[in-house]
Amino acid sequence: MSLMFSSPVVTPTIGSFTFSSRRSNYIVMSAVRSNSASTCPVLTKFQKDCATPTPYLRNVANAIADDMRAGLAVEGGGDLDMILTYVDALPSGNEEGLFYALDLGGTNFRVRSVQLGGKKKRVIATESEQISIPQKLMIGTREELFGFIASKLASFVAKEKPGRFRLEEGRKREIGFTFSFPVKQTSIDSGTLIKWTKGFKVSGMEGKDVVSCLNEAMEAHGLDMRVSALVNDGVGTLAGARYSEEDVMIGVILGTGTNACYVEQKHAIPKLQSNSSSGTTIINTEWGGFSKVLPQTIFDQEMDANSPNRGEHLYEKMISGMYLGEIVRRVLLQMCETSDLFGQFVPVKLSTPFELRTEHLCKMQEDTTDDLQTVGSVLYKILEVEANLNARRRVVEVCDTVVKRGGRLAGAGIVAILEKIEEETERMGSGKRTVVAMDGALYEKYPQYQQYMQDALVELLGDKLRHIAIKHTKDVSGLGAALLAATNSIY
Ligand code: ADP
Ligand code: MG
Repeated sequence: MSLMFSSPVVTPTIGSFTFSSRRSNYIVMSAVRSNSASTCPVLTKFQKDCATPTPYLRNVANAIADDMRAGLAVEGGGDLDMILTYVDALPSGNEEGLFYALDLGGTNFRVRSVQLGGKKKRVIATESEQISIPQKLMIGTREELFGFIASKLASFVAKEKPGRFRLEEGRKREIGFTFSFPVKQTSIDSGTLIKWTKGFKVSGMEGKDVVSCLNEAMEAHGLDMRVSALVNDGVGTLAGARYSEEDVMIGVILGTGTNACYVEQKHAIPKLQSNSSSGTTIINTEWGGFSKVLPQTIFDQEMDANSPNRGEHLYEKMISGMYLGEIVRRVLLQMCETSDLFGQFVPVKLSTPFELRTEHLCKMQEDTTDDLQTVGSVLYKILEVEANLNARRRVVEVCDTVVKRGGRLAGAGIVAILEKIEEETERMGSGKRTVVAMDGALYEKYPQYQQYMQDALVELLGDKLRHIAIKHTKDVSGLGAALLAATNSIY
């Protein structure tokens, strides 16, 4: 799916939530009686605190760009880590041969084989398999986890049809390994785990090179393969999308978490201790770490205070799928306690953290029936409450407020990167197109989120948006990793 922007319409949003407190109090009193949806004091204040009018978004974009520069200058210089990925060359389309991708980063891992046929034949054949990781391996030992992966990889290779896939003589099978946990990369094919996230806690990994863990396990299984590229999913997305379109400069993930990677000029990276300052390299921004000038509400503060990484990743906590539902739940809980949202009692499920998920918000916002039937049934199913029409309307307003803020802030981040690229390259200025490759279920499945993100781009970029395309490139990160194995092949 592609979203090209033509003549942008600037739609200022300033002032949409300006109420004088005396007047709004009066409205609240009468509105409760007249069943209007939008006048509950908690909701009104929340909407006001979440507002991101254009000048505010501009500040956010500028602050993200400042932290990008600070992170490029020195290690730890800003909120954004701006990690060097050691990926200097992106796929050109000339790649040939048999390569593999291995993707570990969540509850499943995936293996993929790709037979590449160069500029003319492109992807000749590809095969993939998804394997769910047993829960106990996520909290087991290094040997168990990597042993499991190596054994599944071995049986995947054993099933390979020789007619479809052909390894050139004298070569090992080379792998692009997508490992979507924070890694301190030390070269294109090595890096040490900084910390486990997303429910993983595998022992024996502290300070270990991720690639040598996999190599040891493959050796133990008599599997003669080697890792030629270690990447994260943002880099994989950027590389996979670049294969079919050379104007791709940015890869963004908006799923459970969020991240963005982009093509930077080496001369603009002071911390890069390298002899050559010409050419480009991919920077992994880890933009989720941005934590300044954000419209934090009391609900964000409380959610953050209860998180394992308190005070950190505030941007990720406002824009990514893991958190949107939880923010809504916290607002609804307070509306329940202060203004009888669902009657006299507070539902137990509403007091349970993370019970309401982003998927549920999306489902409720899809509802176009007059009496908001779907909203009613989601609330009944998930929170076990009977909500009247007035309550349903308020719930939808809360969802919309959170999703609007999230989408708009994500848009501001994309603008920061686009403008950083422009500063170095003047691409847009010279009429060149720039493509942003997007992946992740939040972006893919939440149309309102997409729309709000687009609004932010329109407001901040105005006429320059003519040169930008946002493309949803689903699941190209595996192809990207295999291509990077080819680009970084030792043969
Ligand atoms: P990951 O980021 O773990 O690789 P995905 O890209 O599949 O995974 O994103 C999963 C996240 O996307 C979920 O945590 C959820 O927040 C969000 N999501 C999934 N389905 C939907 C949906 N139908 N509507 C809105 N958001 C969704
Ligand atoms: Mg993903």
